[in-house]
Amino acid sequence: MIEISDLTKVYNTNGSLVEALRGVNLTIPQSTTLVIEGVSGSGKSTLLHIIGSLDHPTDGIVKYNGENIFDKNEEEIAEFRNNKVGFVFQFHYLLNEFDALENVMMPALIKGSSRKDAALMATEMLEKVGLSQRINHRPGELSGGEQQRVAIARSILLKPSVVLADEPTGNLDQKTGSAIIDLFFRLNQDFNTTIIVVTHNTFVSSLFQKKIKLLDGQIINEQ
Ligand code: ADP
Repeated sequence: MIEISDLTKVYNTNGSLVEALRGVNLTIPQSTTLVIEGVSGSGKSTLLHIIGSLDHPTDGIVKYNGENIFDKNEEEIAEFRNNKVGFVFQFHYLLNEFDALENVMMPALIKGSSRKDAALMATEMLEKVGLSQRINHRPGELSGGEQQRVAIARSILLKPSVVLADEPTGNLDQKTGSAIIDLFFRLNQDFNTTIIVVTHNTFVSSLFQKKIKLLDGQIINEQ
């Protein structure tokens, strides 16, 4: 369960202040699929980043299972993020000099697992996303949809309690995009993973259980 209370974020760029989030309150039960909608500049990415502990709020609280993540020190926050949060971005930040298997192994290696254990886990995840025939291909040797599936396999390697995705289907054709979304829903069902997605795709958003719409840093609609 994620509980967000009175969240504000003010960016200060050379003395000019932008209120990106202005008092966001939101409760997300475990295993929810949530879509965040809103026009460009409404605060979606800022909210996603703060929920994922990639950025600190100016004010307010984000609790995971009752614990405020920003009460932790930076090292604890980094550990929390590696273990509990999976990120999938439109530009998936795969490492080009490593093959699919090595890319997916990274979170386990960072956590201190042996190469052997990490490789076993990564192989299982690549099978789960339908890429068992591609494990030794580098990102440049994979299609956009396959690269996105590698990124998803990496994001779910440690079975995080939440997966955060910013326009995960943004640069994919409709069929590949649907396959990616199916994969998120399968994760949600198999591991009770909470899935939080920012998307402008109305078909994709119609498939999610819960929806919020942001405008000027505030939730203007919640369904
Ligand atoms: P969205 O994802 O809905 O497009 P963002 O969360 O990216 O919205 O941005 C919300 C507001 O905060 C915008 O006005 C944007 O210009 C501003 N903003 C976002 N990131 C920064 C930053 N790092 N520094 C300064 N202003 C920012």
